[in-house]
Amino acid sequence: MSVPVLEISRAVLQSNIAAVRAQIAPSELMLVMKDDAYGHGVEWTVDGAPDVTWFGSYDVDSALRIRARRDDARVYAWATSADAEVAAAIEAGIDLGVGTLPYLRRVIAQAERLRLPARVHLKIDTGLHRNGVRPEDWAGFVAEARDAERRGILAVVGVWSHLAEASDAEDDVAAAEFRLAVRSLRDAGGEPEVLHLTASAASWWRSELRGSLSRIGAFCYGIRSAEGPQIPGVEPVAELRAPVLSVRDGGAEIGIGSFDGLPSVLAGAEVGTPAGPRLLRAVGPMVSTVDAWPGASEGDTVTLFGRGSQGEQDATALAERIDTVGEEILLRLTPRVRRVEVG
Ligand SMILES: *Cc1c(COP(=O)(O)O)cnc(C)c1O
Repeated sequence: MSVPVLEISRAVLQSNIAAVRAQIAPSELMLVMKDDAYGHGVEWTVDGAPDVTWFGSYDVDSALRIRARRDDARVYAWATSADAEVAAAIEAGIDLGVGTLPYLRRVIAQAERLRLPARVHLKIDTGLHRNGVRPEDWAGFVAEARDAERRGILAVVGVWSHLAEASDAEDDVAAAEFRLAVRSLRDAGGEPEVLHLTASAASWWRSELRGSLSRIGAFCYGIRSAEGPQIPGVEPVAELRAPVLSVRDGGAEIGIGSFDGLPSVLAGAEVGTPAGPRLLRAVGPMVSTVDAWPGASEGDTVTLFGRGSQGEQDATALAERIDTVGEEILLRLTPRVRRVEVG
């Protein structure tokens, strides 16, 4: 090994998925794939999760990549997308998340043009104010969707929202708002097949908020919440390793740096070495330095984050040092860091 590698384990992905499913049952897993499957690679992740039946992709582009791999799966794309992407999604049988009236109208127009029904999940804004129809506008929004459904060009297959996960009390208020929106759709004659509100943390800990589907990314990849506990049965799928290039002045120089996406502010963190945890002294552009250990030599391997076999921490622990989330540590890695599958 002469360059940094992100080792990704299919066995760990599968055991995480099994642990998540056991925890959330009878709610079904929608495996969230945004940001190239949290840096693990869309194709690799789809292939590693053959028994997953729902995939959640932020954008239509990645949804089409998932569809190309799995023509039997349900694929859900929730980003408000351009007309050409909407058309491609309808043709590929991708479910679309719809959170504004203008977007609903554009989806209906594309479905009419293609003479193919669009499958949509309507989004109620339960307080996050990111996207989603405000409660006061919901009835009118539902009426237009139901009208298109009666004309056979739309199938309203779901209702969804996203929680802030800032406090349990706020999430309870959001869940109550969500239930009202579902009731209002049902009162208008709608028969949603799926309801989904929760992501990793709320799906795991707040069973009363789970819908029939749970949109889960982080925990399936073994990324715990910042300031959150370890999740039983869940381990990091990815481990970041770098080779020792030289040893001098009590420091081991390793072949990874900020140009590879390792934040330079991580200097001072503990990383894993053949002799256990050691201090990461400095992060340079291409080369970083770790406190040397007895017998350290060129060709040894240092683990920046992983499952702990060299005494390293997980990505979230590194993230906590710099006030961000574990996902970001993974997503910053550049393509120079090769993804290598192990076991
Ligand atoms: C990212 C995302 C998720 C998954 O969140 P995790 O915490 O990674 O499980 C679910 N829903 C939406 C809308 C998201 O953007």
